[in-house]
Amino acid sequence: MNDITIEDLLEIVRSYNPEAVDDVFRAYCCAEKLHQGVKRQSGEPYIIHPLNVCFILAELHMDSDTLCAGLLHDVVEDTFFTKEDVERAFNKDVSELVDGVTKLRRMNFSTKQEQNLANMRKIITSIIKDIRIIIIKLADRLHNMRTLQFKIPEKQRENALETLEVFVPLAYFIGAYRIKSELEDLSLMYLKPEEYQEIKMEKQIVEEDSHKCLQDMYYSIKGMLNSQNIYNEISIRTKNICGIYKAESRGKKLFDINDLLALKIMVSNEVQCYHVLGMIHHKYHPINDRFKDYICNPKTNMYQALHTTVFGEDERIVQAQIRTFDMDRVASFGITAYWDIYKDKARDKMQEELRKKYQFFSSLKELDDIFEDNLDFVTQIKMELFSDRVYIYTPKGDIIELPKGATPIDVAYRIHTELGNSMTGVLVNNEVVPVGYVLKNKDRIKIICGDGYVDRKNWDSVAYTAHAKRKIKEYKSRC
Ligand code: MN
Repeated sequence: MNDITIEDLLEIVRSYNPEAVDDVFRAYCCAEKLHQGVKRQSGEPYIIHPLNVCFILAELHMDSDTLCAGLLHDVVEDTFFTKEDVERAFNKDVSELVDGVTKLRRMNFSTKQEQNLANMRKIITSIIKDIRIIIIKLADRLHNMRTLQFKIPEKQRENALETLEVFVPLAYFIGAYRIKSELEDLSLMYLKPEEYQEIKMEKQIVEEDSHKCLQDMYYSIKGMLNSQNIYNEISIRTKNICGIYKAESRGKKLFDINDLLALKIMVSNEVQCYHVLGMIHHKYHPINDRFKDYICNPKTNMYQALHTTVFGEDERIVQAQIRTFDMDRVASFGITAYWDIYKDKARDKMQEELRKKYQFFSSLKELDDIFEDNLDFVTQIKMELFSDRVYIYTPKGDIIELPKGATPIDVAYRIHTELGNSMTGVLVNNEVVPVGYVLKNKDRIKIICGDGYVDRKNWDSVAYTAHAKRKIKEYKSRC
């Protein structure tokens, strides 16, 4: 795994961004000189680490500044080189990125001291300023997790736990599913080694066992698409180990996990996605309530696809995920895919658009505006962002994602401030419930508005999200 060389790195950079090659090579030479003589715990020269981090970033097709910062990300913390030196040798963007990553590294997510809280806040808000800091940090963490075997067991568990609690959700928020699932599996391997090995073996058996069924479906679907001249790519995937572990600990049997086996079908445009869906349902019997249209209703991390579960060959349950090639890039690489898609846009403008697109960033910004106290801020972030979610339906069928514990009041204020302010009651699944009802997955919510008097005295304690609480306060102060 650590056989990546500077030539490999330059080759991949050349393949998508030839103008960046010179700067990347210069950053490599600079980092190599600065880390000279230092070894990692594995016994390899230190430069292997930033080189691999940068390689991961290049696989994500990141821009030149991000790549340089990836190579230099540890120099300010570990060598005499300062932020100003980086700026002089490269540019302000590279130095700001390195500085952001350095600050992130100094903070320990698992302790709760006040100084740490203040730090945490600074870092979280720096992420809002430049999204690329998280991406470098995720690449850094991914390589550290890949080489965790050289650390002592206590450190392994500590890092694995932190990865699961902080970095896996971050990868999810920006929609980088490939990084998310690799981080999850590596963490589980250190936290629950026995369970990990057991599931790994089960998974292998399932893969061998279902190989023929999936191959048959692959060729059959491919044949149908080719005969209609629909350009396509199809791949086979099984759920990651941690995903299986989580489903099993919710009481599911391995073969009841409906997305254990999946076929990923990629075509050129949206219309073709629905066309393919029809063809698949025509050929394989769908399980009715297992259909999801994330094209019309993208997830809050911008994931888009059609999901359907069908009875495949040999009566096996197989999920089909249908999406366009662009959607697939976003699903694999998350927010970073837009660096390719929006190539020609000015960087600040692009980041601003992305911040609006991804709910995570707007929530962060809002929480930052609302809470002055660091502890409140960090606590609320954990409550609202790093916690379990529920998904509910509006009467029109739109899906809204909320933290677990949210109530209809939160829904109303999420949809529109006026809706919250004029709400007098609520129907959940066609039945009247109190406004403080705690929402469950798949609830259908209809907010009732009327002229009748409602006692809103304790609404701000019944609401769960900071957003709703703030709107309620604003409303009360006007009354
Ligand atoms: Mn590092």
